Amino acid sequence: MTKKDPQFFSKLGEGQTPSFFVVSCCDSRTCPSTITGMPLGEMFTHRNIANQVIEEDESFRASLHYALDVLKVNYVIVLGHTRCGGVLAASTGVQHESMDGWLKHVRASLETFDQSKKDPEAIELEEHNVRQQVQNVKNHPVYQRKGQDVPVIGLLFHLESGELKWLD
Ligand SMILES: [Zn+2]
Repeated sequence: MTKKDPQFFSKLGEGQTPSFFVVSCCDSRTCPSTITGMPLGEMFTHRNIANQVIEEDESFRASLHYALDVLKVNYVIVLGHTRCGGVLAASTGVQHESMDGWLKHVRASLETFDQSKKDPEAIELEEHNVRQQVQNVKNHPVYQRKGQDVPVIGLLFHLESGELKWLD
């Protein structure tokens, strides 16, 4: 970094003005800055298993407030990915005492999915999960108060191909 731009880190230390607030899965294969090629300082990111937007989640609430009210980001992105272990665990009924409290939220997000259209590859489930979280952002009280002219975009990263699919 410093070979390309000797001032890079001293400028970074002056503060952040990210354009994007990103809600992403924890999966190590979906780092938002890496897969989009964004430099440090562009993506203010909240991560949890299966990129969930839960109204009662205080950590998410604080992140969303800070992104919209203080950083004044231009876009909110919900970034899901194919072969998501969290979506798979929730959809196949995996149970574990340390994970059940979280997976119940993922299960609730998948409940609205039409099972008759279920694809064995489960990509449709991950897409549905992203669309549901986009809706959850739009319904979130903090977004309702602070973010209504900020577009909320759903993206699905296909980690087998590197393709980033824009979901309407
Ligand atoms: Zn995942």
